[in-house]
Amino acid sequence: MKKQLLHPDYVIVGCGVSGLYCALNLPKDSDILMLSKDAFDHSDSFLAQGGICVLWNEDDFDDYFEDTMKAGHYENNRESVKIMINSSKELINDLVTYGVDFHKDENGEFVFTKEGGHSKKRILFHEDITGEEITSHLLEAAKQRENITMMEYTTMYDLMVANGRCIGIKAHSKKDELYDINAKYTILATGGIGGLYRHSTNFPILTGDSINLAKRYGIETEHLDYVQIHPTTLFSTKPGRRFLISESVRGEGAILLNKDGERFCNELLPRDIVTKAIKEQMKDDHMEYVMLDMSPIPKETILNHFPHIYEYCLENGYDVTKQPIPVVPAQHYFMGGIKVNTNSHTSMPGLYAVGETACNGVHGKNRLASNSLLESMVFAKRAALDIIAKEGKQ
Ligand SMILES: Cc1cc2nc3c(=O)[nH]c(=O)nc-3n(C[C@H](O)[C@H](O)[C@H](O)COP(=O)(O)OP(=O)(O)OC[C@H]3O[C@@H](n4cnc5c(N)ncnc54)[C@H](O)[C@@H]3O)c2cc1C
Repeated sequence: MKKQLLHPDYVIVGCGVSGLYCALNLPKDSDILMLSKDAFDHSDSFLAQGGICVLWNEDDFDDYFEDTMKAGHYENNRESVKIMINSSKELINDLVTYGVDFHKDENGEFVFTKEGGHSKKRILFHEDITGEEITSHLLEAAKQRENITMMEYTTMYDLMVANGRCIGIKAHSKKDELYDINAKYTILATGGIGGLYRHSTNFPILTGDSINLAKRYGIETEHLDYVQIHPTTLFSTKPGRRFLISESVRGEGAILLNKDGERFCNELLPRDIVTKAIKEQMKDDHMEYVMLDMSPIPKETILNHFPHIYEYCLENGYDVTKQPIPVVPAQHYFMGGIKVNTNSHTSMPGLYAVGETACNGVHGKNRLASNSLLESMVFAKRAALDIIAKEGKQ
């Protein structure tokens, strides 16, 4: 089979928010190649519902920091958390320049919502499809950049390494065309590991491919056992991806009920604690699910803030404005990953990792809701700036 040799300046594996935002922050006169294992819009970034955190008022810093640390069981890297929080406002303003629309009130001011583990409202959202709103704008911007080439249905299967340095990757297309892609810097942005699980909210194509390669090449990894289970996905017996019922539904007032219709936990505790409470309740009730009751939320809020959750549940036979829905915990997020420094550099020269694939320690043992889109983009930009700084020195 004929192999094609490609020589971009930089190769970015993955077209979710982390890969896209990294590409958009690299120089416009550099030659960038981006790969996506599946269709461009089949990334978890498109699935994010609840929103994205921001430090909008400086006086929220201490509380936001504490909430992130507490959710992470204080195992978080404090330096990474500070960087993320302090970079958040600039990132949001930048997203707005890309055309991203966050929900505003009648005076044109941002409206903030809350999710589990947050002591205050500090999450921006676009209906219940915040990820799609952000990622589709970044994707469009990347497609319009003449210096960015994007290949769909193209899978990285190996790294190219010479004298201990990463000099690119090997990939194959769906038609089994082979590519050796030689680049000055390689950025891994391949997302999470949900595809390895039977019940997950992730796209099944996300199988931790970069982690696998990191293990093969002795690249440092961290906390590979730190996997977040989301407490509330719509219960289904069908195979495939589980549909998430965003935590902001509970942030807006929805309650969890056992088989007798009684509340059994504080719905706004961090995800790992709510998940534990649900699993114990399922065991006590001898049930495969518990119920989530959205009726405390005004109907208008349900229809305006959560229209896609409303529609999806309706299609599956539940009118959430009238009846509780069965929910069950499922694999959702990977806190561990390829160990990186605060500039997203791995232990292998020439190789960066960003987004869910990387572990810079922001999330500690358990991610605080709506911190991952933010973390993915903040540290993807830092990778780009680090590359620019290194190139300047050469
Ligand atoms: C249902 C759901 C709801 C969520 N809600 C929120 C939320 O409200 N707020 C929040 O902050 N976070 C949320 N998250 C988490 C957040 O969406 C993800 O952590 C984040 O989008 C990850 O971005 P990423 O760029 O790292 O990876 P992804 O967006 O998953 O992109 C991974 C990319 O890598 C590509 N890829 C993978 N392997 C290969 C390979 N071998 N070769 C080539 N390409 C490859 C894929 O094709 C894809 O393009 C949610 C996640 C899910 C699943």
